[in-house]
Amino acid sequence: KYPLACLSKIMDVYGTDLGVGYDIGCDHSKTVARSSLGTRASAERLRFYVGAFHGYAHNRRCQLSYHPRLLTTAGLEDFETNEWIFSKQNLTAHLYRHASEYHRHATLHAFWARWDEDRHAGLGDWLASNYKQALAILDEEGLALARLQRELDLADQCFPRFLDEERAYFERVRDEPEQDTLAFKYLDTLKCLAESRYVPLMSHVTCSHSGSQAQAGAARL
Ligand SMILES: [Zn+2]
Repeated sequence: KYPLACLSKIMDVYGTDLGVGYDIGCDHSKTVARSSLGTRASAERLRFYVGAFHGYAHNRRCQLSYHPRLLTTAGLEDFETNEWIFSKQNLTAHLYRHASEYHRHATLHAFWARWDEDRHAGLGDWLASNYKQALAILDEEGLALARLQRELDLADQCFPRFLDEERAYFERVRDEPEQDTLAFKYLDTLKCLAESRYVPLMSHVTCSHSGSQAQAGAARL
């Protein structure tokens, strides 16, 4: 409920066409769709991403729809602001490792007060450097991409189509093909059969493979 309440507030403040990054943005988008915010979220074109760092721990099928590296709509944003901030905050740890609770809180308070002031003062520089970075990417990597597209005869619309094709592929292989399941059961059954035929002189050997599955496979085959 807490993430939903936060989201409701964010939508009130920032309005439509929001992109929200969350470590579990993939699952959470379904929770939002089922919640009382669902209709509003869809009408206001709210969409979720999984952060670029966390996204690699999600499966490829999830990444195709939620990883900012694969979605042109995310721009340069990696949705890992918290990780960036915590890594800076961690630099204060040596200052109060052996300090009292009071001094730990006081140091963190000073850190965050300073952080807010610095970020606010540096906002213009930050926007300008992001803009320059975007121009540099378009200049350098844009040329390389245009050359590759010419060489491989690829139009711009091919790239979203590749993602769609990959999504469709994962939908198709969601369940193991019956032919493969049967082939493995058949192989197991053959192994069982071979072991059953080999009877050492001094002891009895029982089939060590998953008997019921193999037998079921054998029965069907
Ligand atoms: Zn996921």
